[in-house]
Amino acid sequence: MMGKTWGKIAEMVAAVQKGEVSARANVEKALDLAERCKNYNIFVNLTRKRALQKAEEIDQKLQKGEKLGELAGVPYVLKDNFLDFGADTTASAKMLAGFVAPLQATAVKKLEAAGAICIGKSNLDAFAHGGSTENSFFGVTKNFKDTERVAGGSSGGSAVAVALGVAPFALGTDTGGSIRQPAAFNGVIGVKPTFGSVSRFGVVAMASSTDTIGCFATNAADARLVMKVLGGKDSLDSTTIDNDFTPRGKQKLHIGVIADFMTDDVDQEVLAVVRKYIQELEKNGNRVETVEMPLLKYALPVYYVVVPAEVASNLARYDGIRYGHRAKTARTLGEIYGLSRDEGFMPENKRRIMIGNFVLSSGFFDAYYLKAEKVRTLIVEEYQKAFAKFDVLVCPTTPSTAFKIGENTDNPVKMYLEDVMTVPPSLAGLPAISVPAGRTKSGLDVGAQLIGARGDDALLLDLAESVENKKLKDKNI
Ligand code: GLN
Repeated sequence: MMGKTWGKIAEMVAAVQKGEVSARANVEKALDLAERCKNYNIFVNLTRKRALQKAEEIDQKLQKGEKLGELAGVPYVLKDNFLDFGADTTASAKMLAGFVAPLQATAVKKLEAAGAICIGKSNLDAFAHGGSTENSFFGVTKNFKDTERVAGGSSGGSAVAVALGVAPFALGTDTGGSIRQPAAFNGVIGVKPTFGSVSRFGVVAMASSTDTIGCFATNAADARLVMKVLGGKDSLDSTTIDNDFTPRGKQKLHIGVIADFMTDDVDQEVLAVVRKYIQELEKNGNRVETVEMPLLKYALPVYYVVVPAEVASNLARYDGIRYGHRAKTARTLGEIYGLSRDEGFMPENKRRIMIGNFVLSSGFFDAYYLKAEKVRTLIVEEYQKAFAKFDVLVCPTTPSTAFKIGENTDNPVKMYLEDVMTVPPSLAGLPAISVPAGRTKSGLDVGAQLIGARGDDALLLDLAESVENKKLKDKNI
């Protein structure tokens, strides 16, 4: 299937607007593909009923001669940590299993207003804690190419849905790599925008200072279209900003290759593929130079102090009282809190809650949390220095290709090390995208990560698009 099932989104929308293809036909096709891909465990729930109803509404609008939105009749897949009326919102955790959303996330509302139709809620690591989808209460999602390997995560279901062509795009969240890493592992484009570009209202919070919303697509033009619809200020999320995703038309960019992430610690085949992608950038007329950024290696330990601290705070609301899982055997208030949390959270959730509360506790706060935030500022400054010279920075998205299911599960530190290249831009709030760069000899996909200064999301998409267009031209398509 491989993403060829749909063609470009703009063309799909044009076909719906002209009445050549009905929204209903698109939705039925996507639902049928979802059924056929069952063994990958992409979905927590399909949203069949609401999807068909929304399709009907769009088809009727067209018949009445009403104007259709810019994503009219386009099916998409939604990570199951977005609140939506189509199905429960579980965040792939027992804690929220069966939770019926009282409202819709702003991102979902915007897509719905533009005519896009959600066909299902996709699997993730519970509460988005992880990089393999193995931490899901509903089982692991399989890599699109090799079902013995992980999909990556935490937005594993969304990435595989797009890679297999179930839908032309999917939404994910990215706190430290959860869109970029699974995009890299499944050969699709993954966009993490500048912090604040997309409202997070109605999305289950992980770490509020780095949580972002973005998308998966098979090409940069589609991703841009989706980001344009999603972006913009929202009075319900005070961190939101206006960001412009339209092409900048800037021809020759100055690109910095991050030397610190092109070392022997990285899989040699991954390096070779990314180097080839960088050569493409150079052949397209961009100026490429190496840049040393020695502070970026501290981003991983900083992230695994700051993020658990925020996770511990955000997850404090799951107390078994107001909503979420409540332990059946609990007799006292203390038991309601303790047993409900014990039963509702996955081991990785508990690990982060414990680390987070530890680094925030009096006596340890200065040595861990405060120090981490200070180093974070140094990392922000390191990027500022680099962007005074370069337009875009590039490095691999991940140090390896998709690993085997179970390979890292008993070694959390090894699992965390997979995030070494994706967490630095997250801490600095920078836009970063993963583009399919090529494959290893055994056919596993490799992603190249393009990183921009705050608000330069469009430049990254421009660059990705220029390489895609060149490839099409070379193939004479
Ligand atoms: N893998 C990273 C983590 O486990 C990123 C998670 C995310 O972006 N939601 O924290």
